[in-house]
Amino acid sequence: MAYVNTKEMLIKAREQKYVVGGFNIVNHTSLVAVFEAAKENRSPVIVQTSQKTVLELGYKVLPAIIKELADESDVPVAMILDHGTNTEIIKNCILSGWSSVMIDGSSYPYEENIKITKKIVELAHSKNVSVEGELGHIGGKEEHISVDSSEVLLTDPEKAVEFQKKTGIDSLAVAIGTKHGFYDSKYELDFNRLGKIMDLTDFPIVIHGCSGLAEKDLKRLISFGVSKMNISTEIKHIYIDSCRQYIEDHPDEYEPVKKISFVQQQVKDLVKKYMDIFGSTNKA
Ligand SMILES: [Zn+2]
Repeated sequence: MAYVNTKEMLIKAREQKYVVGGFNIVNHTSLVAVFEAAKENRSPVIVQTSQKTVLELGYKVLPAIIKELADESDVPVAMILDHGTNTEIIKNCILSGWSSVMIDGSSYPYEENIKITKKIVELAHSKNVSVEGELGHIGGKEEHISVDSSEVLLTDPEKAVEFQKKTGIDSLAVAIGTKHGFYDSKYELDFNRLGKIMDLTDFPIVIHGCSGLAEKDLKRLISFGVSKMNISTEIKHIYIDSCRQYIEDHPDEYEPVKKISFVQQQVKDLVKKYMDIFGSTNKA
C-alpha cells in the first residue's frame, strides 16, 4: 500500500488499543525480514534506523529501498530515525525522505528540550514528516544512548501534556521504568504513572526498551492504549546468534545466500511474534 508517516497510524492504534512495532533494522537482511513479517501478518509497521545505521548506509540508499519495498507491499509502512540527537542528521533525514523522525532532547533541561524539539517539528511538518519527542529520561544503553540508573528520570504526566502543546510533536516517548538493552531478572514498571499520562493525553504514546519484557507486562502496557513499542536489542541478538548458529551447523557452506535466508527467517519469526502480541496483526 503505502509509504506513510507515523501520525495517522499511531492515532488509529491508540483508538483501537493495539500497538504498532518500531523495529530497528541494520541492513538489507533485517529490513527484508521486517517487511516480510508485516506482509505475512497484514500488519502496519515502522522501520527504525539509528543514527549509526544512517551514517553507515547513507541518506539516499535507505529511503530508496524502503519506499520501493513499501510500494510493493500492501501494508502501511513508516520509516523513522530513532533517537535523533544530532540536529544535522535529523535535518538530513527529513530532507532525504524519512517519513518520520525522533528528536531525543531528553538529556537537556526541560525548557531546552522544548526549544530544540519545536525547531525540528517546524521543519519536519513543513515536509509532511511526523515527529516523536522524548520527555523524562529512559534508562539503559543502546548505541550512542547511555543513561545510568542514577540519571533515569520518569516522565511527569502533567509536563507531558504541556510538552506536546509547546512543541507540536505527533507522539511522545515516555519513561515509566523500561530501559534500553536487556533486563536483569527484575524490573519495575510504573503503571500508575502511565495511567495518569494516558488519562491526561490524547496523542500517541511510545514505549522504548521493550526487548525482553515479560509478555504479561507487554499486554498490560497495551491495555493502557500506548501506540508504539520499540524492539531493537532483541533483533540484534537474534541476528548475531543465528549467524553464529548457521556457521557452526554448516562449517563447509560457502554460499552466503543460504546463511542470509536462515538469518532472515529467524528475524522475521521474532518480528511476527511481536506483531501478534502487539495486536497489530491483520490491522493493515
Ligand atoms: Zn529508544
